[in-house]
Amino acid sequence: MTKILIIYTGGTIGMVNDAKTGTLIPFDFEQIQKNVPELARLDYQLTVHSFHPILDSSNMNPSVWIALAELIKDKYDFFDGFVILHGSDTMSFTASALSFMLQNLSKPVVLTGSQLPIGEIRTDAKENLITALEIAATKKDGKAMVPEVCIYFDYQLFRGNRSLKYNSEKFEAFQSPNYPILAEAGVHLTFFPNYILSHPDQPFQIQTKLNSNIGVLKMYPGISQQAVMAITQSDVDAIVLEAFGSGNTPTATWFIHCLEQAIQQNKIIVDISQCKGGSVQLGLYETSRELQKMGVVSGYDMTFESVVTKLMYLMGQGIKASEVKKLLETAIVGELTLPN
Ligand code: ASP
Repeated sequence: MTKILIIYTGGTIGMVNDAKTGTLIPFDFEQIQKNVPELARLDYQLTVHSFHPILDSSNMNPSVWIALAELIKDKYDFFDGFVILHGSDTMSFTASALSFMLQNLSKPVVLTGSQLPIGEIRTDAKENLITALEIAATKKDGKAMVPEVCIYFDYQLFRGNRSLKYNSEKFEAFQSPNYPILAEAGVHLTFFPNYILSHPDQPFQIQTKLNSNIGVLKMYPGISQQAVMAITQSDVDAIVLEAFGSGNTPTATWFIHCLEQAIQQNKIIVDISQCKGGSVQLGLYETSRELQKMGVVSGYDMTFESVVTKLMYLMGQGIKASEVKKLLETAIVGELTLPN
């Protein structure tokens, strides 16, 4: 019988209204089970592991990612797939982080959650949970159909490190602007194998060293030197530069000088676009040529979630900065597309 481990970390899916404050707070897994009697009818052996404390995912942090990676490693040989119940707010960060930390996956790790608690009549939680379980259980020729970290939400399966939460109210809360979906659930569950990672040759392993000392510099017309310097002269090890369009920034001498100084202080600067779709192309415009010359790294079409967690993972490995920079511009687990 197919064995699935459900890992409950929290999120709206299991929340209830707190009578005292009137706000939504996370509740235990029994709440979920009680509301989905269909779980007992599934042909899988389900085991549940609840995290303590269960979290609103805005309180998610790297120590929980490490605990998740270690749990999956401990249970890896005993289950066919893993479903992680998680708040939608930071689900794409967790999925991206796990995609780098869980290496050579040959089993599915499917994150899901919901926009409405499972106890609400119009909830989207039941469908999300039941189909996520089905995806985690699906095999082809005896092997898992989706051997990667992914997010299932509102009838679509996304590569985790390509996904982002783009809507806080619609059931269709996630998008993957730069990579096709991996599967779609309608009357049939249709997988798109050409877009799914292939099975690894190497044995499964985890990497749990993370360095989260990262700053973010988001550009806007009129940004002051003081605001830029607050990031470039801070004590961070890397800066994610959220630039305009295809990776462009102002060309003002003071601005270029601030970035150059940061690079001289051995900070890694990665350029990603504020546009959700499309890729950074350093050197395409005059407004990114200087960045390219001084050694700013291109984040290509990576999501913000992916860049931040990839930096945490790479900088945690104790490898040389030049190697970190090289790997940032390399697709490790399908998180970026290099231009032709
Ligand atoms: N605040 C919730 C969370 O991320 C939202 C959700 O689950 O959809 O935990």
